[in-house]
Amino acid sequence: MNGGTESTERIALQSVSLSYGREPAVVDALTLGVRSGEFVAIVGPNGCGKSTLLRAIARLMAPASGVIVLDGRDVRDRSPRELARELGMLPQNNVAPEGMRVVDLISRGRHPHRGAFARWTSEDEAAVRRAMESTGVVDLATRDVETLSGGQRQRVWLAMALAQDTAVLLLDEPTTYLDIAHQMDALELFRRVNRDQGRTIVAVLHDLNHAARYADRLVALREGRVLIDGSPSDVLTEEAGERGFHPPCRVIDDPQKGHPLVLPRAAAPRPLR
Ligand code: ADP
Ligand code: MG
Repeated sequence: MNGGTESTERIALQSVSLSYGREPAVVDALTLGVRSGEFVAIVGPNGCGKSTLLRAIARLMAPASGVIVLDGRDVRDRSPRELARELGMLPQNNVAPEGMRVVDLISRGRHPHRGAFARWTSEDEAAVRRAMESTGVVDLATRDVETLSGGQRQRVWLAMALAQDTAVLLLDEPTTYLDIAHQMDALELFRRVNRDQGRTIVAVLHDLNHAARYADRLVALREGRVLIDGSPSDVLTEEAGERGFHPPCRVIDDPQKGHPLVLPRAAAPRPLR
């Protein structure tokens, strides 16, 4: 947790470049701060470096240059277990070990909180139960993860990340595979853990209207750089569409909540990339 004298920036990327092997940098000298308790949506086209950025924050890859700081300390100065007590990550693609039951997979989220020979505590039990209830997977507890539908599986992975009980959550396309009702449930859940529990959330979201409705701030990436960064109404404008950030669109105020609502205009046909 931050002390009173420290900056309230929970995550700070300072001129971070990320690349795979000898390929040109995917993320290029990116500087970005996320304040404690913020809900930030990362948006941008396929392949612009969103997943790469989250992986680096979770220390799953090392920057080619620059520094990534979590709570005032370089992430490289922490052991993996220490980092996992502070930061949970829902990756874009997950594969469960063969033959693993739902409840056992979710229980793995507690691993960073336990010593090598520590017993399973009532606190672990409660965290797993809470995570299962809030993601609606209690009925699936004894199922083999491999036998679940894509959406059910996504909720199980989400439960595992929540059971980890971290102050920071990195969510990479957390609503992919979910039907519309479960998408809304998941987004409402993120907002609750953000607002009620003060957890800091950085989520890659493709649906700009979901991002506008749930996030405090949108960071739009293009080719590994920050294109626009601001509140939903700063970022989701018709001019931003003209600058190429999103497809040409009309932007209206959502009649219920007042946040911007993006209505894409039909675009000229183009090949899928
Ligand atoms: P996004 O999540 O924004 O769709 P990614 O961060 O996954 O994009 O990928 C950014 C770029 O890095 C893409 O060009 C992708 O092909 C490349 N890339 C991603 N993962 C790897 C990898 N493991 N090895 C080589 N290149 C990769
Ligand atoms: Mg991605």
